Amino acid sequence: MLDVLRRIVEEVNNAPNLDQALTAIVHRVKQAMSADVCSVYLSDENLKQHVLMATEGLNPESVGNIRLGFDEGLVSLVASRAELVNLGNAPEHPRYYYFPESGEEKFNGFLGVPIIHHRKVLGVLIVQSMRTEKFDQDSETFLITIASQLAGAMAHAAASGEIDRILKQTDHLNDNSKPISGLPGGPGVAVGTAVVVYPLADLKAIPERKIQDIEAEIAIFNSAIESVREEIIALSARLAERLPTEDRALFDAYLLMLDSESLAGETLAHIREGNWAAGALRLTIMEHVKVFREMEDPYLSERADDIYDLGQRVLSHIQRTNQKKMEYPSDTVLIGEEINASMLAEVPAGRLKGVVSARGSRTSHVAILARALGIPAVMGAKDLPVGRIDGCPVIADGYSGNVFVSPSRSVREEYIRLAKEEAELSSELMTLRDQPAMTKDQVHIPLFANTGLLSDVTPSLHSGAEGIGLYRTEFPFMIRQRFPSEEEQYRIYRQVLEVFHPRPVTLRTLDVGGDKALPYFPIEEDNPFLGWRGIRITLDHPEIFLVQVRAMMRAAIGLNNLNILLPMITTVAELADSKFLINRAYEELLEEGLEVKLPKIGVMIEVPAAVYQADSLAKRVDFFSIGTNDLTQYLLAVDRNNANVAGLYDSLHPAVLRAIYQTVQSAKRHNIPVSVCGEMAGDPAAALVLIGMGIDSLSMSASSLTRVKWVIRNITIKRAQDLVTEVLEMEDGQTIRQYLNSRFEMSGMGGLVRAGK
Ligand code: PEP
Ligand code: MG
Repeated sequence: MLDVLRRIVEEVNNAPNLDQALTAIVHRVKQAMSADVCSVYLSDENLKQHVLMATEGLNPESVGNIRLGFDEGLVSLVASRAELVNLGNAPEHPRYYYFPESGEEKFNGFLGVPIIHHRKVLGVLIVQSMRTEKFDQDSETFLITIASQLAGAMAHAAASGEIDRILKQTDHLNDNSKPISGLPGGPGVAVGTAVVVYPLADLKAIPERKIQDIEAEIAIFNSAIESVREEIIALSARLAERLPTEDRALFDAYLLMLDSESLAGETLAHIREGNWAAGALRLTIMEHVKVFREMEDPYLSERADDIYDLGQRVLSHIQRTNQKKMEYPSDTVLIGEEINASMLAEVPAGRLKGVVSARGSRTSHVAILARALGIPAVMGAKDLPVGRIDGCPVIADGYSGNVFVSPSRSVREEYIRLAKEEAELSSELMTLRDQPAMTKDQVHIPLFANTGLLSDVTPSLHSGAEGIGLYRTEFPFMIRQRFPSEEEQYRIYRQVLEVFHPRPVTLRTLDVGGDKALPYFPIEEDNPFLGWRGIRITLDHPEIFLVQVRAMMRAAIGLNNLNILLPMITTVAELADSKFLINRAYEELLEEGLEVKLPKIGVMIEVPAAVYQADSLAKRVDFFSIGTNDLTQYLLAVDRNNANVAGLYDSLHPAVLRAIYQTVQSAKRHNIPVSVCGEMAGDPAAALVLIGMGIDSLSMSASSLTRVKWVIRNITIKRAQDLVTEVLEMEDGQTIRQYLNSRFEMSGMGGLVRAGK
């Protein structure tokens, strides 16, 4: 059964459209379950009807014509209860509803399961049999599993407007004014053109892309085939001495496939239909993979992997040619299943208007980067039909997390207006750049910038930041092919310290692991965020840690504006070991005759254990910096990158607020300053609360700085403290968020927390 299930799932995922996916499902399920009927109904929210979309066993003419109201028939019973219904004699059930044209009268056994995506019923999957008996338990679990797989494909189709089209909606409903929802990733709105990016050599991730120059794509494809042929011949020759002839037969098979009319011929046909070479290749290969997978003979079925492998090889050659040709229009909205930092960096300066990623969340490092560059971003837009929207007009609303694909004219005009207001608001706020971050009752709350890229040091400087509160040193490590030398690190740190001098700069020691991997230092773990990460790695590799802190202290010679920050501290022993190594590096440098000064040393409070041991840590350091990104993830047990649980990720959750409050109290008891450098610091609503709790300074993306400065300049510490008292009484994050947002609307600055002015 598992094997059948796997094939069906693959078939659904590879179907070019929903119609074909549904047809495949009803055919396969009916066969696998030896049922007499299998049908799929889609729920039409607008007309409040369940519509028969595919069937095998009922009259095919009924497709699209059988429509049941939301309170009619067994179908709606399954949908409204959102659970399965299994009956031995359906016609006797009071909810049974009979359509004479369907030919349904002879069926007695009925098993229906809802198709649910994120708590929403999208449709119903049904099998029926002539036998007067219930379906068994295996059938129930099988059908539930199929329905759960179908849900993803249906959600995609709903998001791309395909379901609306299928359901033959009126023009009004078909105008794509409904957004696809994701998560706010970076404030601002982007109105532009979708440019879909994808990881290299991943055939499944290749999007469809329309082309003009068919001959050029044919040439790219033919030359890729030629290169792969040469590659395989060379490979086979190289292995001739080491592999017996029969094992080398695979290479001959590859060559045969390459030359076969089906592979090349079908791909060329797809190209002639207007698809680019990579997309045409994907269609052909996936069709062949499907045919082989379905073969009963295990040997032949496994050949599907070989075909896929061959496809990957051809693809990598196509991409070598395409890579140089990637075009970015002046209003690029970068879209991908998972966007990484280097994809972002590829876009020429000034052309990137927005970022939309189907995975990740606000605290994913790519969202942090987008904010650092002041680019609106939407993360975790799971239902975005990434493969089908390259080149489409899109709108990304970084406040609400909504994405509109091919929006209607009215939506587009509205967003162009909002974007204009946004620009006006930003320039109004820019007038605050050189004003002090001082509350109405004259309390100074220094605002610092978070950075990590040399290219965003300049925006940080121009944003009016009073220093760098968090320099993520891992970024320069991530873009290299090996660990940077002490000299290379020295130059990077020196530049930052010099540019900001005499303002303070807090350099954090290497914090890799989790979602930040170094290409040359692979870490394979089941739970990377609970694994070898941050200080845990560098203490295990003192040679890396010592080089880094030496470079930092040398870079500060004569400037003396350096603070060192230690990430992921969980125990007092880790802190003691880190301080021991920093002291050793300091002594070494003195012995070498360098006039280094011992910098201030602080810890990130980002692991719940550190909150509960804040007093013990405070005794031993010069400052605290609260990393609310990780603290929220660890306190709420919600992966900061996982879009499935992103709705639960909330830095205003009362537990997070109390942890911050407790940390501030410890810092005050020990007379050390405490700042917040997580993304929360740049959120105007959250900043209000942090100031009221007694946080001494805030560090954030440069693009958030003036917004938060406005908040500080328009409030008294007393009022912020009162707000904290009110908010700490509240029992959930959403209530807190709504309450704080309403304060902004009341003070005429709703534009700080939503699109527009
Ligand atoms: C944090 O965890 O809040 C933080 C600032 O560090 P990073 O986002 O780099 O993990
Ligand atoms: Mg962190």
